Amino acid sequence: MSELKPGLPERLSSVVATLRQAEVDAGRELGSVTLIAVGKTFSVEACELAYACGQRAFGENYVQEGIEKIQAFKEAHPEDPGEWHFIGPLQANKTRAVAEHFDWVQSVDRLRIAGRLSVQRPMTMPLLNILIEVNVDGESTKSGVSLDEVEAFAAEVAHLPQLKLRGLMAIPAPQETSEARRQSLAKLRALFEKLQKTYPDMDTLSMGMSADMKEAVLEGSTMVRVGRAIFGPRDYASACQSTQG
Ligand SMILES: *Cc1c(COP(=O)(O)O)cnc(C)c1O
Repeated sequence: MSELKPGLPERLSSVVATLRQAEVDAGRELGSVTLIAVGKTFSVEACELAYACGQRAFGENYVQEGIEKIQAFKEAHPEDPGEWHFIGPLQANKTRAVAEHFDWVQSVDRLRIAGRLSVQRPMTMPLLNILIEVNVDGESTKSGVSLDEVEAFAAEVAHLPQLKLRGLMAIPAPQETSEARRQSLAKLRALFEKLQKTYPDMDTLSMGMSADMKEAVLEGSTMVRVGRAIFGPRDYASACQSTQG
């Protein structure tokens, strides 16, 4: 586990201020972009500190770590446990745990996984919110549905009864210039707006991290995902030791 770094409240309020300024600069409504605090490798205590500062939406990449946090939050804040987004790669043998605990899955890129999430989502829970992960720059090393396959994929996912298809998510390839960053983001936005004509309930475009937050807000993002700029640097070495030990 990465240790709790000092200065989290200051870093969080600085990220929120940057986001609100980006909304103003883009002529967007104030507060129209949701900040997801990505707490992977960080402790429940670090997430609790962000919660105490007003943060409510959290993103997690690892199933077991995420569930431990969700359970701790449900105990500590039964009336308002926050909103929990699974944003990491998801294997078939972990879909049940995700379907039974998370509010959103942002990283859906295979029909088999979507089908399992729908079947395994408990009937007593609200529908599971789904974003299709798009491989917007066609990178061979990256997961995600390719741009030209997203419409057909969305049509299949939209049929699954326990899922609610809310939109698209992407992690564009890193680019040197603001113009180059905006090109990828604009491709995603165009696809999103096209899909919204078929699926009027689609309302979520999850794109933008620390390095491209401003451009993402200019290109219509409704959700940005930020980890290290809030929690501080991650310490993967100690995270590995703790899983092996
Ligand atoms: C880790 C992660 C983030 C946050 O990355 P940082 O570099 O910590 O800001 C955002 N989105 C996804 C999908 C991630 O896995």
